Amino acid sequence: MAPRYAVFGHPIAHSLSPQIHAAFGRQTGIALEYTAIDVSIDDFHAALEAFAAGGGRGANVTLPHKQLALVLCEHLSERAQRAGAVNTLVRTEAGWDGDNTDGAGFVRDLTERHGLDLRSRRTLLLGAGGAAHGVAPALIDAGIGELTIINRTPDKADALSDALGQPGRVHSRYWSDLGNQGAFDFIINATSIGRESTSFSLPYSLATPRTLAVDLSYGEAAIPFMAWARSAGCHTVVDGLGMLVEQAAESFERWHGVRPDTRPVYEQLLRKSDMLATAD
Ligand code: NDP
Repeated sequence: MAPRYAVFGHPIAHSLSPQIHAAFGRQTGIALEYTAIDVSIDDFHAALEAFAAGGGRGANVTLPHKQLALVLCEHLSERAQRAGAVNTLVRTEAGWDGDNTDGAGFVRDLTERHGLDLRSRRTLLLGAGGAAHGVAPALIDAGIGELTIINRTPDKADALSDALGQPGRVHSRYWSDLGNQGAFDFIINATSIGRESTSFSLPYSLATPRTLAVDLSYGEAAIPFMAWARSAGCHTVVDGLGMLVEQAAESFERWHGVRPDTRPVYEQLLRKSDMLATAD
């Protein structure tokens, strides 16, 4: 039987991860089984242990389990510790090793696939959930300028800002004060608003014709923010599909010691999403 891997989340039915890891496996000649496991937060720990007992060697963790996964690990990578969230688990004799590949995947997609220079950009991060925790340390390492974090629940933005440990460079603000923040060179939507709502409203004063706008979501969930960014006149508008493939490649390398070529897998997913968008 092929070694077992899985992604745990809730909901998880529409996850592209099984497709991506199967494609990486075919490309690299590595036999693997990768499934999606839908489990509630209350049942996550038991499901993870059952998976390990059944031969599970590694897992991805997504919404809403990333912070719980952190406390279930025996060992954490530095980037998982800095993120305060885990999206990749590796089974060892001692238990689970936790890592976070979201930030590396995010930066690699923007700098390598899209050829963007992130350095010195005055940056606005919307959201302070698991994904925002993953990308914020990687943004700092990528050399962005000032970072402003805004979240519906302000305490979480304060906590993320404090955890980054750069008070001169990183600060949190209230959502209601967005209109007074001036313009940004880089705006990141790390909220899940687009999963619940078809509209996204922000002051147009946040954007300039040089602004890079990136949504971590992809597919239909990215449409509201990307529509706002285009109508605000942002220079470049990117969704989270490339990040998804890059963070998966980072996980794949952790598990199998081989880095897959992400380009054909990204292009195939892009073609599929274009076909779906024009299907009706
Ligand atoms: P979490 O549930 O951990 O966080 C959700 C965030 O969205 C919180 O900041 C929450 O604010 C905010 N939010 C939710 N609803 C609203 C609303 N109606 N108004 C304002 N803010 C809202 O989710 P994740 O951080 O894991 O994921 C966020 C998004 O990023 C998802 O759409 C996910 O698909 C995407 N993602 C993409 C990845 C990729 O590889 N491309 C990887 C990881 C995530 P509050 O704290 O107040 O609840």
